[in-house]
Amino acid sequence: MCGIVGYLGDGNAYNVLIGGLHRLEYRGYDSAGIALVDKKGKLNVYKTMGKVSVLENFCKDKNVDSHIGIAHTRWATHGEPSDCNAHPHYSEDGNLALVHNGTIENYKVLKDALVEHGCTFHSETDTEVLVQLIEYVRLQNDCSLLDAVREALKQVIGAYAIAVIEKNNPDCIIAARKSSPLVVGVGDDEFYLASDASPFVEFTDNVVYLKEEEIALIRRHEPLKLYSLDNKENEIDVKKLEMSISQLEKGGYPHFMLKEIFEQPATLLDCIRGRVVDHGRIVTLNGVSDNRDTFINARRIVIVACGTSWHSALIGKYLIQDMCHIPVEVEYASEFRYSHPVLTPDDIVIAISQSGETADTLAAIKIARKMGAFVYGISNVVGSSIPRETHSGTYIHVGPEIGVASTKAFTGQVMVLTLLAMTIGELKKTLSPEDVAKLGNWILKLPSLVEKVLSLAPEIERLSLIYTYARNFLYLGRGYSYPVALEGALKLKEISYIHAEGYPAAEMKHGPIALIDAEMPSVIIAPKDHLYEKIVSNVQQVKARGGSIIAVVTEGDETIRNIADHVLEVPDVPECLTPIITSVPLQLLSYYIAINKGKDVDMPRNLAKSVTVE
Ligand code: GLU
Repeated sequence: MCGIVGYLGDGNAYNVLIGGLHRLEYRGYDSAGIALVDKKGKLNVYKTMGKVSVLENFCKDKNVDSHIGIAHTRWATHGEPSDCNAHPHYSEDGNLALVHNGTIENYKVLKDALVEHGCTFHSETDTEVLVQLIEYVRLQNDCSLLDAVREALKQVIGAYAIAVIEKNNPDCIIAARKSSPLVVGVGDDEFYLASDASPFVEFTDNVVYLKEEEIALIRRHEPLKLYSLDNKENEIDVKKLEMSISQLEKGGYPHFMLKEIFEQPATLLDCIRGRVVDHGRIVTLNGVSDNRDTFINARRIVIVACGTSWHSALIGKYLIQDMCHIPVEVEYASEFRYSHPVLTPDDIVIAISQSGETADTLAAIKIARKMGAFVYGISNVVGSSIPRETHSGTYIHVGPEIGVASTKAFTGQVMVLTLLAMTIGELKKTLSPEDVAKLGNWILKLPSLVEKVLSLAPEIERLSLIYTYARNFLYLGRGYSYPVALEGALKLKEISYIHAEGYPAAEMKHGPIALIDAEMPSVIIAPKDHLYEKIVSNVQQVKARGGSIIAVVTEGDETIRNIADHVLEVPDVPECLTPIITSVPLQLLSYYIAINKGKDVDMPRNLAKSVTVE
């Protein structure tokens, strides 16, 4: 969600900033802007509604000469998407320019006070309040920009990642964060700043992740300095970036989403590497085995997540209950945080988020910690907030996911949850070493089985042509296939804008069955599991009402083939591994339908990749 880029050094700031904004486009945004100070000390701010390419065109005949600058892609929260509301915002005297990711909850009170002091506002954003406030504090106290930012931030309630530059001191960027990510790239006598490291991966692999309420003082030809809000100098922990430029490119695929779907055999392998060894006999997640007693004695597990991660959480519930006999509850993080949750120190809270920055999930973590629960994080982005805010956890290691609609991160999350359940199950002895070895061996085979599922792509592409103009879809599944149905429906909604509902197949007859007619296709996920006979009846119920059926079935299933209009056959695997296998054809179906409709699958309208606001 929204992106920040900054540059300070001897190079051409404009090129770095525009290139960086393009890299951050995947996060979702509605407008873009840039602020630069030229050699004569003039502050130039350019901003436009729409894509970064529109900004680039706009800047073609503008003065973009500069060695310092900040840039932004905005995902509007306060005020409509417009040129005027786009960032950077500047102080009334034209001295400061600022970009901001997040929301300022007390902006109205601050704004009213500033208006009383004579400030005039030009935008509807909460962000403009920040820049005016900082400049007001600076002038009132006759202090440095660093001091002014610190004092202003003390008055702010809300979430922010900010970068500020000053016309009168064009050799310095001040950056700060709270509940929104920001990372500094330390180059050879030059600095980069961004919401994630993708904008500067080709320039440096030395990164410093800003911590909560930390302020960075970035000066030309000077070492980086970090301060806390109460003005203590913090230690600098430079980390090595494990991201390569090839991971951020499409590698011959027309879209990131298709590339990421096809990467899944490799990403699953990366996810299990070192965790499933000795031909599957040993399955360990260190984050679990290092906290052996906590997991063995857990009274209950609560999983908090949002969106696709919430669907993998539901699969996690089935996995953990099956393998570990621990009761599991799954909560939307946004509901959990305001539901007066009841937790005890015997509870474990598992928080799942691809980006590791999801605002609601981070808030849920804070509450869980406060109530004494042990908190375990599952995320993809190394150095993100979730691994820092949790007691322990696991990375899914699927590499950067650029497509806004999650695919490889979903299967990675489900894989990690499977390994987590197996590790706890073995510690608790609810799984025998033989159970672990058998399943472990299947897990080692999964990447090649997913490869086999991917060979269905041409068939699914043909099938998609029949259903491109359907206006509604129903996705049905039972047991492990129920969350897969939810995820399949979400994928279709996200990128093709077709209304789709995921439902537990047996619940259908309590309502949604009324919708079924020849115009309403149903996608039914029906692998050969312990509920197979039950779902065959559900397939028949749909057929009896004239609905058309696309069924995802186990290879060789003649029964459903004889009822359904189309079947997609997937390899036979143990029941608990079916979600990884059956979700892949649904990803492809959504992809091809969206492509047939001419939609932008990598950047669907209104959506953001990393949801860093409430
Ligand atoms: N709240 C700010 C605005 O609406 C920033 C939104 C964002 O994170 O892009 O302009």
